[in-house]
Amino acid sequence: MKVELISYTPNPELLVASAARTCYSKKPASQIIKKITHKRASKLIKKLVKIGHHSILEHIAFTFSVEGISRACSHQLIRHRIASYSQQSQRYVSLENTDFVMPSTIRKNEKAKELFNRIVKEAKNAYKKLLELGIPEEDTRYIIPQAVQTNIVVTMNARELLHFFNLRCCMRAQWEIRALAWRMLSIVKKVAPTIFENAGPPCISEGRCPEEDFPCKLRKILEKGGKK
Ligand SMILES: Cc1cc2nc3c(=O)[nH]c(=O)nc-3n(C[C@H](O)[C@H](O)[C@H](O)COP(=O)(O)OP(=O)(O)OC[C@H]3O[C@@H](n4cnc5c(N)ncnc54)[C@H](O)[C@@H]3O)c2cc1C
Repeated sequence: MKVELISYTPNPELLVASAARTCYSKKPASQIIKKITHKRASKLIKKLVKIGHHSILEHIAFTFSVEGISRACSHQLIRHRIASYSQQSQRYVSLENTDFVMPSTIRKNEKAKELFNRIVKEAKNAYKKLLELGIPEEDTRYIIPQAVQTNIVVTMNARELLHFFNLRCCMRAQWEIRALAWRMLSIVKKVAPTIFENAGPPCISEGRCPEEDFPCKLRKILEKGGKK
């Protein structure tokens, strides 16, 4: 999997703080943004996010190019509705020479790996044969397993990203989307450190876990004072 932040709102934290200040100032944001410092912006964002004034986070957006994830993963990703997506088409892009994501549980088990590779090979052969029989790509793709790789562009605003990290960085989430969420988080932390300072699963963002009965390695690491 490759994850790259290809675009984001310039000066994201100054913008969020200026929008926030607009609510409490006679001055408009166009003036506030020229004067506000990073230090003041950071302080204001922390305060307002804490009291639940989260709509200010909707003014900034982040666009990622997500490459080489499985369709099983992209399907989970696109369940997040407050976002925009553009995904590689399986009608217009042939899957003849496509790659597949192999989960580590399968990779580590010789027999499972052999079975996985055989089925993928058979699916690829069937795909080619169906094309030769004149079946269009929009139908030949039905033979392809969910492990098939895809590329997708996703744009989310900061509020939705925080929600996404809350659900998908959690050990409850499936490993591939969890890996994707952690990568996205590590990237946005660099460009909006205050906003994403405490982002992550509830045990990090809220200091509590709603899944007390769930055996979780992350919670154990945090309880020991370690960092993820
Ligand atoms: C561990 C885990 C297991 C899951 N298992 C399953 C499963 O087995 N089957 C399955 O179908 N899904 C499953 N999901 C997906 C899950 O149900 C959600 O569809 C997905 O996580 C998107 O989250 P969301 O709906 O909160 O947020 P988003 O779509 O990202 O929306 C953000 C927020 O906006 C608000 N919102 C958005 N749309 C509406 C609306 N129409 N009405 C009211 N409020 C809205 C809600 O507050 C929502 O939380 C799972 C998710 C996780 C994390």
